[in-house]
Amino acid sequence: AFNANVAAAQDALNAFIVATPDRAIEAAQAVDAKRAKGEALGKMAGVPIGMKDLFATVGVQTTAASHILEGFTPQYESTVSAKLWDAGAGMLGKLNLDQFAMGSSNETSYFGNVVSPWRRNDGGNAPLAPGGSSGGSSAAIAARLCPAATGTDTGGSIRQPAAFTGITGIKPTYGRCSRWGVVAFASSLDQAGPMARDVTDCAIMLEAMAGFDPKDSTSLNLPVPEWEKGLNADLSGKGVGIPREYRMDGMDADVAKSWDDGIAWLKDAGATIVDVSLPHTKYALPAYYIIAPAEASSNLARYDGVRYGLRDLPDGSNLQDMYAATRAAGFGAEVRRRILIGTYVLSAGFYDAYYTQAQKVRTLIARDFAQAFEQCDVILAPTAPSAAFALGENTEDPLKMYLNDVFAVPASLAGLPAMSVPAGLNREGLPLGLQIIGKAFDEQGVLNAGLAIE
Ligand code: GLN
Repeated sequence: AFNANVAAAQDALNAFIVATPDRAIEAAQAVDAKRAKGEALGKMAGVPIGMKDLFATVGVQTTAASHILEGFTPQYESTVSAKLWDAGAGMLGKLNLDQFAMGSSNETSYFGNVVSPWRRNDGGNAPLAPGGSSGGSSAAIAARLCPAATGTDTGGSIRQPAAFTGITGIKPTYGRCSRWGVVAFASSLDQAGPMARDVTDCAIMLEAMAGFDPKDSTSLNLPVPEWEKGLNADLSGKGVGIPREYRMDGMDADVAKSWDDGIAWLKDAGATIVDVSLPHTKYALPAYYIIAPAEASSNLARYDGVRYGLRDLPDGSNLQDMYAATRAAGFGAEVRRRILIGTYVLSAGFYDAYYTQAQKVRTLIARDFAQAFEQCDVILAPTAPSAAFALGENTEDPLKMYLNDVFAVPASLAGLPAMSVPAGLNREGLPLGLQIIGKAFDEQGVLNAGLAIE
């Protein structure tokens, strides 16, 4: 049934880059065979999921939604996807995303925009962005094409698309999920996580995805907690911090209201609300848009036309010409912009002024959180400054697009677990998300506060 729905919705939503119906069926049959033999079944037994096309999958094209990787078929499997298959999940297909996960609207994909299944209730029919970069994942779950999907979050790419489409997604503590086999964007920030319909499904799937991996040097060598068993929406004795710097001038009225609703719901669940300060918040976005492009410019140097995917070798050209032609043809505009910014801020004359400064800011942001968490257990804030915008609405102005990540990037810079849960609709009938940020390693606290909200 899921395979049929994926196929039927493709023209309208463009959520998948490739569908793999046979893989979903094979996984279901393998689960049936195990069950018949009385063998133990994994956490994800028989669950058909979508795989963001940033995870390397053996035998199935892996593109990061870029022309430069078109036709690249990995011979190795990402650790996260391997764990999901071991747990019994089956793959419905590879999901569309912003190219190299750079974007907030899924409009930078070489394979075209993903369209959100949501529409405004004003009778207009403007196609809306599903958020990004995990926009294929969010649209597919919201349209019920799959019960869950993988996402990755470098500066909000799980949380913001979850908020835009009324679903749930958690970015765990940096290092919980292995980055092995995940196409690298900004390695010190990249983190995989589950996206699903609710908190319980996220807890189950995160248990299947997380765990130490010697192949990733930044992988956390910690046991995976039993998050599903630990779910508890009673927040008695818990403190919820409300960061005053997030209440910005001119904040969208519906977003402010949903934040207030969330505060009331968490109070009802027994939590104590405390006012906290994260004084360096206003520097987080500029620091992120220096650090992430810097790391990207280094990571993307490997796409040179020699080792992967596309090669453009004009007649009579030399090696340099081949690099230039391949990259010009293979990288989209946003990816080129990031490479240029990243190369600039890392260049000898500007390194200290930009990159070193941004790293200092990153430390200050992490300290802000550490201090705030002396007063509370989790922090509650909006996920994004607005509900979903229309496709095309922000594409002319990259800075406007980047501003969308203002509430998402601080937790990324600090490596903290953070989740977006649905928190009602705005006056246009579009979903809004609330974000819960937790202490390092305290996914359980984040999930429990999320459960109290949903
Ligand atoms: N929107 C942010 C960016 O474009 C975040 C992307 C992400 O988390 N992968 O960099």
